[in-house]
Amino acid sequence: MGNRKITLRDIYLARDRISLTVRKTPLIFSGSLSEQAGASVHLKLESLQETGSFKARGAANKLISLSSQEKSCGVIAFSTGNHGRAVAYMAKQMGIHAVICLSNRVPHYRVEAMQTLGAEVVQHGSSQDEAYNHALKLEKDRGLTMINPFDDPMIIAGQGTIGIEILEDLPNVDSVVVPLSGGGLIAGIALALKSADSRIRIIGVSMDCAPAMYHSLKAGKPVEVEEKDSLADALLGGIGLDNAYTFPIVRDTVDDIVLVSEEEIAAAMRFALDTHRLVVEGAGAVGIAAILHDHITDLGQNVAVVVSGSNVDISLLTDIIANRYKKH
Ligand SMILES: *Cc1c(COP(=O)(O)O)cnc(C)c1O
Repeated sequence: MGNRKITLRDIYLARDRISLTVRKTPLIFSGSLSEQAGASVHLKLESLQETGSFKARGAANKLISLSSQEKSCGVIAFSTGNHGRAVAYMAKQMGIHAVICLSNRVPHYRVEAMQTLGAEVVQHGSSQDEAYNHALKLEKDRGLTMINPFDDPMIIAGQGTIGIEILEDLPNVDSVVVPLSGGGLIAGIALALKSADSRIRIIGVSMDCAPAMYHSLKAGKPVEVEEKDSLADALLGGIGLDNAYTFPIVRDTVDDIVLVSEEEIAAAMRFALDTHRLVVEGAGAVGIAAILHDHITDLGQNVAVVVSGSNVDISLLTDIIANRYKKH
């Protein structure tokens, strides 16, 4: 693991730092999911977070912690969208110049969203890896500070503030279901909640077409996965072959990882809108999908499902709702 151990104290420090810039999100009871699961199921609505995803938390914690020298030189992020959005928005709030580097596969509406937020957007290459390498070059050439989307103690501690909020609102929580890609979200939540009580179960959910952390844990080291299209586009991308933090934390703290299909994700997005009047993007709906389709055993009595984001193209959502969505 990276040589800096992340503690519960770091997560409380993060909460102090970001309390004025991010929202405390609601935890709502879901009657229909509770019936389905035979447990009391609650939804943690990070879909209502500033910029439409929990990534605002880590980004705020990281940017506030930069030195004044780093702040004045500016920052750079490479991102499939939500991390870029969060960095762009938070940087603007703090008067920091932000460059966002993206692959050409990122949907146009996400690019526009970041320009609207005031960031300089650079698109390069057709994969996350190509965009990342270009970002590294810009980082060096222009003296920017790279803001990693997940593999950074400040990012992990920022996302961990969700764990504190869950514990405050549902102190008798038995299990927490968390969307999983690079692992910053689940690592922070697991560190917070396992510090409170190691018996709280932490379950990660990824899409079955490209689950990078799942395959990496099986292999015992970070491995690359083939890039695919998924409704859960915010979960695409690898965990980094030089992963220093999230891989060991997830390996040591997460109890189980389950996988959901594209059809199950679509059904969960439909369920969220139909039953709870909630707009949820694919990545944000994987936890609901896992409950709806009985992928998780041992949930216990009190369950929190993290609904991680809401940034979905409205025409795509419309197709999903009308059941016109076809995987191609
Ligand atoms: C980034 C993201 C995730 C995954 O978070 P990781 O920290 O990479 O595991 C899940 N849902 C949404 C909406 C995201 O933007």
